[in-house]
Amino acid sequence: MTTPLRLRFAPSPTGNLHIGGARTAIFNWLLARKSGGQFIIRVEDTDLERSKRAFEDAMLAELRWLGLDWDEGPDVGGPHPPYRQSERMTSYEAVLSQLLESGGAYRCNCTEERVDGLRAEQEASKASRRGYDGHCRALNLDSTCGKHVIRLKVPEGETIVDDLVKGSVSFANADIEDFVIARSGAEAGAFGMPMYNFVVVADDVAMRITHVLRGDEHLINTPKQLLIYAAMGATPPRFGHMPLILGKDGRKLSKRDGATATREYRELGFHPEALLGYLVRLGWSCGDQEIFTLDELKVVFTTQGLGTGGAKWDLEKLAWVNGHWMRALPLATVAMRARAFFAARGWAEHPREEALVACLRERTRTLVELADAARMFFGDEYPRDEAVISATLPGARDVLSRVGEVLEGVADWSEPALEAAVHGWCEANGVKLGKVAQPVRVALCGQKTGPGLYQTLHVLGRDASLSRLRAAIG
Ligand code: GLU
Repeated sequence: MTTPLRLRFAPSPTGNLHIGGARTAIFNWLLARKSGGQFIIRVEDTDLERSKRAFEDAMLAELRWLGLDWDEGPDVGGPHPPYRQSERMTSYEAVLSQLLESGGAYRCNCTEERVDGLRAEQEASKASRRGYDGHCRALNLDSTCGKHVIRLKVPEGETIVDDLVKGSVSFANADIEDFVIARSGAEAGAFGMPMYNFVVVADDVAMRITHVLRGDEHLINTPKQLLIYAAMGATPPRFGHMPLILGKDGRKLSKRDGATATREYRELGFHPEALLGYLVRLGWSCGDQEIFTLDELKVVFTTQGLGTGGAKWDLEKLAWVNGHWMRALPLATVAMRARAFFAARGWAEHPREEALVACLRERTRTLVELADAARMFFGDEYPRDEAVISATLPGARDVLSRVGEVLEGVADWSEPALEAAVHGWCEANGVKLGKVAQPVRVALCGQKTGPGLYQTLHVLGRDASLSRLRAAIG
């Protein structure tokens, strides 16, 4: 039995949902679901200038597209509202007051010039201890002290992060200055917007978060956050820091490597099942299994499977996984998703759209590839291989016109009936099927390869098939 855990995804709504962020969300979600616990969305929008509600909405839509759901969040509410940091000022003020009261934090009215001067001096003398010197630590300044900041009183000793992925990592407190957790507000005595590390901790405590899985880049913040938990007298969550997703060159994945937002992959015709499964495998493993369903993952996911080495983003592998889902998903699902791509190209619904998707999904890896291949079924503007056409059709006129006659006589334009008619004619006339199939395919598709011949005839329909044959005969 596992105890129900509480995990969160805490995005900053300053852009599109990045695949690294999506992976973090998925891992936290899986751990919550696996334990029968809760998954919470908390929007970290303290950067008021760069944060946009439109980004928040889009990020949540992307997470839903991936198949995630949440028990608490800005759009669904919950027992610990509000779920946007920009709206939680009252709760931060309460914690700051409590920290000032208990002596875990103190007011500091040192001027910027003094602090900057201190740093320059330390730099010049190559001092071993850097940072704020604790000048105001013992002064017990109150809210009448003028423009000031609030600093955490960092104790001596060391801070150990007992990490779920990296094991134990220790940090000397001597290397951590009495850092600023809040600036003073515009009005005398008021609190200003608190700092990043402080609000994350204040919220994780208020929201009773038990586990935090996040990217490696946050490990540097974790000792400071643990010191804030200690000052608050609160039990910290278990942390797990995951290696970054790397680009081909082994550096952090970036725009140079191509698409980095989940939205771009959606637009490139990837299925959410594929992107989710691939993202999970990137940094987590369970034997040699490569393809996972969401339901399977909810059972088998454990933090022990999280790796410590950076994982390279491999578009070819993602396409391979997507190809699997092209075939494995219910046909109606693939057809519905393909429709959006057809509509975007201005194609009205095809009378045999499911059959069309059924024959093309076998041979394509993404919905965009499928739409490209579907062009020949939506009107007469489709790519033709002129070299193949001129090498095949002139010598096959006779065969094509005789097959054309046979097809004219087929009443029920179904795959089995078409197959029976062509086979019957071949047998009766001692003609090898290959002699017929190849020119007919070239006549219908303008290509040497394509979906099965009878599938193609069926999906094209009687009129288009016969008129393409006639055109080929000339
Ligand atoms: N808001 C942070 C980010 O978007 C996440 C903070 C955390 O997970 O602790 O990177």
